[in-house]
Amino acid sequence: MSKRILVTGGAGFIGSHLCKRLLDEGNNVICLDNFFTGSKKNIEELLDNSRFELVRHDITKEYYAEVDQIYNMACPASPPHYQYNPIKTMKTSVLGIINMLGLAKRCKATILQASTSEVYGDPHVHPQVETYWGNVNPIGIRSCYDEGKRCAETLMMDYHRQNNVDTRIIRIFNTYGPNMDPQDGRVVSNFIVQALQGQDITIYGDGSQTRSFCYVSDLVDGIVKMMNNPQKFIGPVNLGNPSERTILEFAKLIIEMTGSKSKIVYKPLPGDDPTQRKPDISLAKKELGWEPKVDIREGIEKTIEYFDKKLKENK
Ligand code: NAD
Ligand code: UDP
Repeated sequence: MSKRILVTGGAGFIGSHLCKRLLDEGNNVICLDNFFTGSKKNIEELLDNSRFELVRHDITKEYYAEVDQIYNMACPASPPHYQYNPIKTMKTSVLGIINMLGLAKRCKATILQASTSEVYGDPHVHPQVETYWGNVNPIGIRSCYDEGKRCAETLMMDYHRQNNVDTRIIRIFNTYGPNMDPQDGRVVSNFIVQALQGQDITIYGDGSQTRSFCYVSDLVDGIVKMMNNPQKFIGPVNLGNPSERTILEFAKLIIEMTGSKSKIVYKPLPGDDPTQRKPDISLAKKELGWEPKVDIREGIEKTIEYFDKKLKENK
């Protein structure tokens, strides 16, 4: 049956794919965004759909609508963007989720919070399991994001216990794909754009830190499964691809796949940059029957195509 669904941050990278998927399934979608890091371009193809509504709004302010489900995706996700105005980032996570939980409570809607692997900080448990409480610096340059997301998880659980709100928490691990902003400063966009433009590939630190990259269509499958999971499994659940590699290996893969002549240069490692990250996805497999399907080469191929087209358009 068609549902009324609110997607905050719907004009962003992941949000835009989610809006499209929900419309394709026949739902009515309200996409709410303040366009801090999102773009109208990401949702241009959806604007003609009569079941799609675009609202410019900031989730730090109250919002009223009648909806059945809320996907709270709004929050800058790349370190340079979330560190640009750290106080605003914290407000987006904390005031934003309070407003959305209030809306969910009034509408009796199910609400899903896009949390993050950053709640584990620089993890001492590897791979990361949901029962691990993490190793987060509360006063560092990443704290506005990490602690904001941790506080949002707390509020989700408190509204669940105190007000019986139907909540779902997902912890997203590094995700990539089309609709990423070429300028957003994350490693996937930086390396591909640098390689396509023949610029130096900037590795921060010595490149021995690891990440595990998930293609966006796999992630969106997991997100929708979690929201509609009939067994009332509320999480938190890790969603990511466990295939782990060092940042140096990743740089070499991008150079090989783009056929670029770019050379690798080393820059200082930003503060509190996690040394290792890999999701344990046993829980998602067991509770949701979910696991990623897209191989890194297939996903990166599509992402290179996207950035190549985007860079040519902007010339
Ligand atoms: P993104 O920056 O592309 O999208 C975020 C969207 O939220 C943008 O459209 C932005 O304009 C909007 N936004 C920001 N602040 C807002 C506010 N106050 N009010 C309304 N809209 C606001 O990032 P993304 O990669 O698509 O991430 C989406 C969500 O997933 C975020 O909550 C992020 O923390 C989470 N996440 C992403 C990743 C990843 O690898 N991409 C990893 C972990 C968690
Ligand atoms: N990184 C890098 N070069 C870049 C951008 C990022 O070496 O141009 C590194 C960054 O220091 C981190 C990893 O790549 O160790 C992933 O960074 P990203 O900003 O994509 O996300 P994070 O997982 O750190 O939130």
